[in-house]
Amino acid sequence: ATTLDVTAIRKDFPILQRKVNGYPLVYLDNAATSQTPRQVIDVIVDYYSRYNANIHRGVHALSQEATDAYEQAREKIRSHFNAAHSHEIIFTSGTTEAINLVANGFSSLLAEGDEILVSAMEHHSNIVPWQMLCERNGAKLRVIPMNQQGELEMDTYREMLSGKTKLVFCNHISNALGTINPVEEIIRLAHDSGAAVLIDGAQAAPHLKADMQQLDVDFYTVSAHKLCGPTGVGMLYGKEEWLRKLPPYKGGGEMIAEVTFEKTTYADLPHKFEAGTPNIAGGIAFGAALDYLNAIGMEAIARYEQELLAYATQKLQEIEGLRIYGTAADKTSVISFNIDGIHPYDIGTLLDKMGIAVRTGHHCAQPIMDFYQIPGTVRASFCFYNSIEEIDRLVEGVKKAKDMLL
Ligand code: PMP
Repeated sequence: ATTLDVTAIRKDFPILQRKVNGYPLVYLDNAATSQTPRQVIDVIVDYYSRYNANIHRGVHALSQEATDAYEQAREKIRSHFNAAHSHEIIFTSGTTEAINLVANGFSSLLAEGDEILVSAMEHHSNIVPWQMLCERNGAKLRVIPMNQQGELEMDTYREMLSGKTKLVFCNHISNALGTINPVEEIIRLAHDSGAAVLIDGAQAAPHLKADMQQLDVDFYTVSAHKLCGPTGVGMLYGKEEWLRKLPPYKGGGEMIAEVTFEKTTYADLPHKFEAGTPNIAGGIAFGAALDYLNAIGMEAIARYEQELLAYATQKLQEIEGLRIYGTAADKTSVISFNIDGIHPYDIGTLLDKMGIAVRTGHHCAQPIMDFYQIPGTVRASFCFYNSIEEIDRLVEGVKKAKDMLL
């Protein structure tokens, strides 16, 4: 018996009733985006049906209600991630925007010769903004290497840190390999040499609860769509002292205190970083998604997903010629694999014909594929609503695809 009542949970997700190519959908592309439970969909419908209005400026009832719900969501997010203050939670359109906001802000704080360290297993959204930043101000981007298992080489990291290091960027969990990085140690070591740290929590937030104060992290990013919320909304957590230091990223309404043509003064946190009308329904639904996860319990979710991971790993490994990339001791429910002599795209296409959704390709982490000298992988990523029966369908599907292609 498994540790979660998956049959009951699956009833919350309308999309899981769908058929694809004549088969009941097996959705195993959760690391790209997760599905949305009725409880979160209802919150979005309710917003547009009852109190759709612009926030923070209207005196009328609808605007007040929308503002209250949006700010309550901010407070839920603060509480979930245990930030010290709700004004340290900045609503963004997602992780990508959150990272760009920080990169843009650091542009004025870095000088030629300063160094930024990034891990070898970053998502492109955590590489490109820093490259753009370094091009602008002559800072140097250095890469913390990883080993064959897909674990960061911490000894090398220690040696790379110096007085020149101003920033360290690393994901909490790798989307391509599933590795859970030792972020606590990464942060502590960076702080010991005076560097700030941004942790990309896009893949971690659906699987574990990160505690901002315990981690003592400077910046942490999340996308709501990876944790059963809607697309187009996410958060940047930033320590108050850093958010005060960074200049605003976008100019516009909502982010100002006073505007004349001679000079503008900026609004206080968090509004300084929230120019323009935000994704109001999305922010409220982000809060509802956290409520949904917490009602199940993040620990129960993690425990069950580990069961799925162990079962799927064991079953897939029995297939001859199948190689799994990312075998870190500490990993989450992602399995990236290839079969000797078969292109990952071909496996993905055949699985789709059987109603099984996986991701194939480089997973926006081309440097990892270069490291293993492969064009890409097939990636199956599990969520707490996936069942053991679905893993069996995946394994059968992979076997069938292999027989057809070899
Ligand atoms: N970082 C990681 C580790 C990711 O997995 C993703 C999404 N695949 C992102 C960043 C980008 O997130 P978003 O597209 O929601 O901005």
